[in-house]
This record gives sequence, structure tokens and C-alpha cells, in this order.
Amino acid sequence: MKTKATCPYCGVGCGVLIEHDGRRITGVAGDPEHPANFGRLCTKGATLHLSARPETRLLHPQLRAARGLPRQRVSWDIALATAAERFAAAINEHGPDSVAFYISGQLLTEDYYVFNKLVKGLIGSNNIDSNSRLCMSSAVAAYKQTLGADAPPCSYEDFAHTDCLLIAGANPSYAHPVAFRRIEDAKAARPQMKIIVVDPRRTDTAATADLHLAVLPGTDIWLYNAMLNVLLWEGHVDQAFVREHTEGFAALRDHVRDVTPAIAAEVCGLGKRGADDIVTAARWWGEAKAAMSLWCQGLNQSTHGTHNGTALIALSLATGKIGKPGCGPFSLTGQPNAMGGREVGGMANLMSGHRDLANPDERAEVARLWGVDSVPSTPGLTAIELFDAAHDGKIKALWIACTNPAQSLPEQERLREALARCDFVVLQEAYHNTETAPFADLLLPAATWGEKEGTVTNSERRITHVHRALTPPGEARPDWRIVCDFARELGPRIGKDAARLFPYAAPSGIFAEHAASTAGRDLDITGLSYALLDAAGPQQWPFPKGVNVADAAGRDRLYADGRFPTADGRAHFVVPTQALTAERADARYPLHLTTGRLRDQWHGMSRTGKVARLYNHVDEARIEMHADDLALRGLKSGDLVHVKSRRGDVVLRAEASAEIRSGQAFIAMHWGGNSLNSAGANALTLRDFDPYSKQPELKHATVQVEKAVLP
Ligand code: SF4
Repeated sequence: MKTKATCPYCGVGCGVLIEHDGRRITGVAGDPEHPANFGRLCTKGATLHLSARPETRLLHPQLRAARGLPRQRVSWDIALATAAERFAAAINEHGPDSVAFYISGQLLTEDYYVFNKLVKGLIGSNNIDSNSRLCMSSAVAAYKQTLGADAPPCSYEDFAHTDCLLIAGANPSYAHPVAFRRIEDAKAARPQMKIIVVDPRRTDTAATADLHLAVLPGTDIWLYNAMLNVLLWEGHVDQAFVREHTEGFAALRDHVRDVTPAIAAEVCGLGKRGADDIVTAARWWGEAKAAMSLWCQGLNQSTHGTHNGTALIALSLATGKIGKPGCGPFSLTGQPNAMGGREVGGMANLMSGHRDLANPDERAEVARLWGVDSVPSTPGLTAIELFDAAHDGKIKALWIACTNPAQSLPEQERLREALARCDFVVLQEAYHNTETAPFADLLLPAATWGEKEGTVTNSERRITHVHRALTPPGEARPDWRIVCDFARELGPRIGKDAARLFPYAAPSGIFAEHAASTAGRDLDITGLSYALLDAAGPQQWPFPKGVNVADAAGRDRLYADGRFPTADGRAHFVVPTQALTAERADARYPLHLTTGRLRDQWHGMSRTGKVARLYNHVDEARIEMHADDLALRGLKSGDLVHVKSRRGDVVLRAEASAEIRSGQAFIAMHWGGNSLNSAGANALTLRDFDPYSKQPELKHATVQVEKAVLP
């Protein structure tokens, strides 16, 4: 049998056909009809069936009576009643903001919707955030500040139409491989197309570029401002577009006037040819009929990630290269459904239908839609703030769903202290052996890929109906159902009518409520239903009622009419804060550490780490350094080294890499419990974050490296 779903890894959102016999998943194939991948899969997607290992699954609820005691198997009734009692006790004694929920871009949109309604509608707090905070938040803030809405305006199809592709802070060859195949196809079909890659490392993606700008970490804004400087000088600014469709250009023009290619090349560390290379990049962009940018975590995971994004978006706006084939700014989503989670407002600063928590009218609108008195106005705690509050003893009960903060958040030592300081921690998870599991007082077994029905939205705003192939093993339940069951237990204990708020018998009812809530919004999907998605295939939003399925205009490419969803209908230029990285190298910590992905692993490896074949590419945690930096320390490839930052230390094997410049180092983000000392890169990273997006600077820390002296 074959069941249609999507790959649960990256934001490309490839369609997959799950092959199964009704009891076991036996194989996986790319869905030839899915518009994201047309049948292609990368190594991770093609081995999905091998990750479905029953022995790694959490099968029954487990509860411990007190800290220090082992957890015991309990029934769902006892598990949910206990969780409800503990959360109700915290809420009734300390108020709704004494509890918090940390959820995941792995969840389906329907799961996200009920989580958000539980916290903001039933409990009366905004303390719900997602690991998507680590992923796209800066891109979202940049889109909102410039274009007015959290809506990537391009489609994958645009790769085939562009003459100049500027890939910044992204390594799609590894992190979004099927999208990268489309870029390679476009280049093969039209060799005159220029590819520029901005990345401190000479990644696989950079190696294919016509021009690689190996900027120093944190210096991107100088580069894009200098490109704009050249575009101005050489007459490539589309004055008519700027005049008729934008605001704020004069201030940015004045700002970039002094950011010459020579100055930017110096700041960016681009060497002798740097100024010429910046001019070349700007000319390619300016002279191209169609130019587009593509970015990901290298820009987002920064203390000025939002302005990295606005500076890049300014290139599209200044040249009028937006809303046309092959044009526009295009952020790649890291996770499979970070976009869907934002559509339903499953984050501390958002509400359903892209509504803004800070807007009182929109809060009242959501309260009306849900039939509750109000949605609280106090801003919720974002990911880093949430665990900081837990560290300070302000979070009494914490619910974590389908994510692994004890591996993925920065300053791991402090993070783990925060988890230990919460009075009661619930972990809703498919796997029993993540780094976060030991901190849980209550483990709730969740269904996972192939076992759940719902929808996901990929990087190009395309919604796919994901089907269930198998019944979840043991007593595992779909996430949406766990949330609804918990809500019905909790409601009476805090004096609320949860049965009325959570009447759903199936995810289709949740999707229908979500779709109705988007009426008149930028992402209006009132025309979508499970039935339509099954009949017509995955669809991009907006998709309002009455839209013709065959007519993609207005969905495949936003802003073609030059109107933007801002208050004045115009796009806005932003003068950036010209900052560098939060931490600067010094004599004690002289190396700039960057983090990133491997080709064949995904996030904390709870799934890919179980597939032996995926270790063929890289088989253990390691730090990559320039050969000169190894020699300077009397080291060689293969040596075990002690890597220290101001926050922690890890022991890893060192490897000389031609991808790295002297003075820099690289550790893949995936390793945690699988590395030598059960800590990975995030033992070293810092929790400073961007003031607008609250996204932490996971991409950079300064470290020292010395030969490990093992006992
Ligand atoms: Fe999965 Fe991404 Fe690979 Fe597609 S490109 S198969 S979504 S990991």
C-alpha cells in the first residue's frame, strides 16, 4: 500500500509515498505528483523508512512520583489527570504565566492550532513558543518590517526564471538538497545565470557558485549595503518602482552612501579582491533582468538577524525585482512546518491567521472567534526568555512537545539547570531517548511521521494534506488529541469550559476552524479543505473561497501588482543597525566558531541518528579547522581536542578542512548525546538574541582549542 505524506525533515516539504503493509513501513518513494519535488528525495528523505525503529519509540505514558525516582508506566487517564492537577495548581496559585509550553516546527498545523488555543484561549497566558524561534523568526521580522507580512513572496519555480541568484547564509546543497537540485537544473539549462554565495565557509553550495564571498561571520549588512551603494552609483536603482511602491529609500540611500565596496570589503574580511568582488556581485544583480535572493540560518541566527534580512530585501526593492518571475527575496524554512505553526499563531507574539498579539483589535477578534472573554495582552516568553524564566524559578510547570531543548538551545549547562528547576516537566515525544527525556517528570507517547493526519506548509507557502499510514505503536496518540484530552482535564480545574473550546473528533475539524479564522487575512485559506487538497493536490496560499484551482496567479508569486500589505500599501526600506557578532575574538578565545548542518543528519538526530547508512558521510562529531590553526597548536587531523567557550566546553576530534579560513572553526549542530561527552556545539553557543525577532545567535561564538588531556 502507498500513503501520501510529506518528508518530516526540511522546509522544502517534499511529497513522499509511504510504502507499508498496514503494520509496518516498508519503504518510501518521492511523490512524482508533488510540486515541491516531483518525485525526488535526498538521502535523508530516501531513508525515512529506516528511521522507523520500534525499539526507540516511547510506547506508554511514564510518570515519576518524585525527583530522583525512576518513572513508572501509568495509564493515559492517570497521566493526564496528574498533568492537569500540576498545571492547575501552578495556575491557581501563581497565575497563568507560571506555566509555559515549548513546542516544535515538527508538529502539524492542526497540532499547533490546538496548542495555541489551549494556552492563549483556555489557560489565559501567551507563554507558548516554538523551536521555530531558532529558525525563521528573523526572516519573519524582516518581511514584516519591509513587506508588511510574514509571507515569502517566491516559489521554487522562480529558480528556473532568475538570471542572478544570491544565496546568503545558506547551504542548500546540504540543508535543502531537493531545492538545490532545482537550482542546479536551472544553471544547467541556462549557464549564463549567475550564482553568488555569501558564506564564511566554502561549502558545497559555495563551491558551485560563480562568485563566493567568504565574509567574516556577522558582517553581512556591510556587504548588502555596499552592493546597494554600487547599484546607486551605477544607475541600477529602479527609481519609478521606488517612488511609486516604497517608503524610506532616502534614509537608506543616505546611510549606504558611505558604505563603499572598499570599506565593506575591509569589514567583511574579503581581502585584496574584495572590493572588486562586491562591485561584480552588485553589477550582476543590477544588470540581471531577474534577480532573487535565497537565505536561511546564516542570516537569521544572529543578534542582528532581522536587519540582515531587511538589508538583503532592500536589494530587491531598490531594483524593483520583486513580484516578477525569477525575482524577490526568498527565505528557506529550516523545519517542515515552521510556516504552518506561524499561520495558526503558535508562538509567543502571534495569534491565529497571522494576527499580531500586540494589536488590541486583533486580540479581540481572536477572542470572538474562539468564544472566550479575551486573549491576554501580556507578551509571551520567547524561547530563550522562557528558559531564562524557568532558570529564575518563575516557570512552575513546563510542557515540551516534539523538540529537544537539552540538545538544541544555546548555553546547554544553564538550559539544563533551567529544566531541573521547574517543579513539573511534561515531555510529549515519539522517542524515549532524547537528551531532554531525563528531565521529564511525565513522558507522554506521541505519534510521529506516518502515524498522523493533518497539514503542513513548506517554504513556498504550499499546504499539503498529510495522511496517516499506520496506527501509532503502543499507546502513542496523535499530538492534537493529547492536547485536547489534556485541555478537557485541565478546564474544570481552572474554572473553564474546555469541552466547548475543544470539541474536535478529528483533525479535519481543527483545519476547518483554522481555515475559517483566516478570512480576509493575507494568508486567507478559506477556499481550502482536506477534500480539495486531496482532489487538486498541495496548494499555495492565499487561497480564498471561490478561487480557481488552475489559476496560480497571486499565489505562486506575491506582490505582482506592487501593492504590499502594509498600512500604506507600500514596501518600507529599513536603515539597519550596523552591528557585528555579539561576541568578539580575543587572546583567550581567538577562533570564530560557526555552526551548521551536515548533509545526512537532521536536527538532534533523534530520527536520522538511527540510520546506519547516514553515518557514511560523517560518522562522528568533530571540529573543522584550517590546517594552519591546527599546526599552530601542535595538532593534526584526528587528534582529540578540548573546545572551550565562555559558557562551556566539549571534547571532539579535530579535522583539517579546506572549507574553513584561518581563524575560524566549524561544528555541526546535530551532535549532542552522541558526541564524546554528551554535549555538542550548543555547550559553546550563547543565548544573546536579536531585539526584534528574539532569535538567538546560534551561528557564532568564540572559542579556544587545545589538545585534549584525557584521564
Ligand atoms: Fe526531506 Fe528536505 Fe530532503 Fe526533501 S530535501 S527529502 S524535504 S530532507
